[in-house]
Order: sequence, then C-alpha cells, then structure tokens
Amino acid sequence: MLPQRVFLLIAFILFFVQTSYADIFVISRKSVNVRSEPTTRSSTIHKAQKGDWFLHLGNSPDNKWRNVELPDGRSGWIYYTLGRIEDDNYLNTSNDTPPDIILTPPEFDIVRLEVHVINVRQGDSTLIVAYGNDNQKVGLLFDAGKQRRGDEFGVPYLKSIGIPEIKYIISSHHDSDHTGGLDEVLTYDPQDPNDFQVKLIGKAFVTKAEVKSSQKKQYDQYVTAVVKQTGEAVSILSPPAMLPLARGITIQTVTGGGAYLDKDTNSVVDLGVTDANAKSIGLLITYGKFTFFVAGDLGGISKHKYIENKIAPFIGNIDVLRVSHHGSHTSTDEPFLSVVKPEVALISTGSDNNYGHPRKSVIEHLKSSNPNIKIYQTEEGDQTSQYKDLVSTEGLVANNIVVSTDGGCLYSIEGSGVEFTGKVEMQNDDC
Ligand SMILES: [Zn+2]
Repeated sequence: MLPQRVFLLIAFILFFVQTSYADIFVISRKSVNVRSEPTTRSSTIHKAQKGDWFLHLGNSPDNKWRNVELPDGRSGWIYYTLGRIEDDNYLNTSNDTPPDIILTPPEFDIVRLEVHVINVRQGDSTLIVAYGNDNQKVGLLFDAGKQRRGDEFGVPYLKSIGIPEIKYIISSHHDSDHTGGLDEVLTYDPQDPNDFQVKLIGKAFVTKAEVKSSQKKQYDQYVTAVVKQTGEAVSILSPPAMLPLARGITIQTVTGGGAYLDKDTNSVVDLGVTDANAKSIGLLITYGKFTFFVAGDLGGISKHKYIENKIAPFIGNIDVLRVSHHGSHTSTDEPFLSVVKPEVALISTGSDNNYGHPRKSVIEHLKSSNPNIKIYQTEEGDQTSQYKDLVSTEGLVANNIVVSTDGGCLYSIEGSGVEFTGKVEMQNDDC
C-alpha cells in the first residue's frame, strides 16, 4: 500500500507529459502512467519529433521500475521501456540502458556554436561552446590531453577565449593522452581573485570500462579533482544519453563502453569489447544544419569489432569529423567514411607522437570518400619514429582549430598554424 502516493493514470492518445527539452521526458503515444508525489499533471508543451527518445510506459516484459527525477523538480517511480520515435510511430526496444542520468535543463537558446580542437600535441582535447544572444556561453570539455597538457594548453586556452564555466567534462576513455590533463583544468589555482578558475557547473563523465593499471593514476586524479570541486562523483556516460548544453543543440551519446546505437534495430547494442579504444565515448552534435562527430580513439578494425562502421548508419552524413585516434590506421576506414561523408576532417596529432600518426592510409580514405575534403591537423605529426615513412603530410597544419556556425548554411574553419592561418567559409552540403 502506498497511502502517500497518488497513482495518476493518463491514457489518452497523443497525450504527452514532458519537460522543456527533448531528451529528459516521459512520453508515450498510447499511455502514460506516472506515480508521483506531489501529483502534478503537466501540460502538453512539447510535440514529439522523429528521433526523440522516449520512455514507453505501460505493460511490457522489458519494463522496469525506475526512480526518475525530472528537471522541473518532480520525481517518482516510472515503469518504462526505452524507445525512439520513428516517423509517426514509435518502436520499442528491449535494451536495458535507459537515459537515467537526469541533467539540469539548458538555460538559454543557442545562437552560435564553436567547436575547438585544442592543440595539446600528442593527445586530444575538444571544446564545445554554445553561445546565447545575451552574452551567455557554456562549454563542454571532451578530453584534455595527457598529464601537464591541461596546465600547459587547456587552462590557457580556456582563459584566452574566456570560458570559466564548463557544464560537462568528459573523458572519452581512460587512456592518459585524453584523461591526463582533465584534473589540471579542474584544480588550476588562480593566483589572484581576478584570475580565472574553471568551474564545473554540471557533471563529469567517464566511459564504462575497467581502469587498467597503466591508466589508474591519471584516472584517479581526474575523479578526485571532480569530487574535490563539486562534491559529486563522476558518472558513466553511455548511449543514448543526451547532454542538454543549450536549447537548440542536440548532443547525443552514440557510443560508449563498447555499446552503440543501432539504427536498424533501434536499440543499444553492447559489443562486449575489451579494447580500451573501442570503449571511447562518441558524441554526435547537431545544431541546425550543422553536424559534427567526435569519438576519442574509437576504432574501425576487427579488434574493435568495427564499431565505427556499426555506428555510421546512426550518425549519417555529417559536415565535420574529428578523426578518431589521432589519424591512426586503426580508425576511419572506407565503410565508415562512405556513410558519414565529411566535408572537413580535423586531426588532433602531435609532432611528439611516435605512433606514425597521422597515417597516409587514413588521408587516402578521407580523400577517396570526398575528393574535395578539407583536412586540417593540429601539428605536423610523427617525423622521427620507425613509422615515419607511413605518415602523411597532406593535412594542413593549423594549430588550434575552431569551427564556428550559426546553424545555417555556412560554417567556418579557422586555424593559426604554419600551413593554415586564417579562416575559410564552408557551405553545408544540404543547402
Ligand atoms: Zn589517444
């Protein structure tokens, strides 16, 4: 018996209960059962669109009771299955990884998006910034290079563009060339009150993977820095969770922990991979006509179970690809590129790498997928190791790379490197 709880049954076709954005909501085209306290009947303020994820409530063997806290403060136990809107109907899925990370709603409408590939030498760091009409700005930091690169490059870069607040900080996977600098960004100690401190105002994430002994030191420093600054532990980010950064931009987790969003079956498929790179978190970012994909060191060969190829149908045709794994031959092969068809490829590679990055074969794959593709890279790449003869020099060395768009037909790419300095305008291919 639940004397304090009120059982609310809403069973009208086309009745929606939801909050002010598309990713955290309770929705069904048939029925909605919400048991909550206090009882609140929401008004219909959102019409479901194709591609929205929803929680299908009702009787299904796949349903589970889960405690849900909505951003408007309501909470309760909901019995649901995850699904996705396809055309005018929805499909159910039997997957067991619902978007149960409940995040605070976005605070403003996006009017401009910037994607920054920060030159952290051998390693990776991508900063996503959403701007509002009233001087608002909010960032998402995806990796920060290896140890000391957060201090050396991450913090100065954030200072230079004036991003003191980060809503989400994400380690794509546990390798130290991605995670090593994250704690430095969070623990940077300003020397005077006017100096800059990076505040994490939202959540910190990691991928679902075991922490190997070689990764443990950097990983522990990251999670400790998060707890120290926010008092909260890191969370696991896995598909299909969406990150509400600003209203009007969709940031969807399409892969993570070796699982990916499968377009055909409309479900999250766990490949059971053991390889650390294959467990990289991949984010598909959509703002207006602009689409961008970034995924750490996600792989596309057999030991990674071709995870890039598997996720490609869900990603679809994009504008800009942050090439995975620093241009390694283990990623970015032809089947993947034949689906995602980028116009611009950005490679985070350091001249201090000795892995033979970026590989000629990857550049060839990029060019055969699109003869007009523009390829930019942060540094020249490996010139000294045993693999140096396999390294391509075709991508233009651009240092820090900035992609900027208002979501319309045009976007720009800006660089400040020895081979590319200045700005080029690009046109979205569906304009
Ligand atoms: Zn890496």
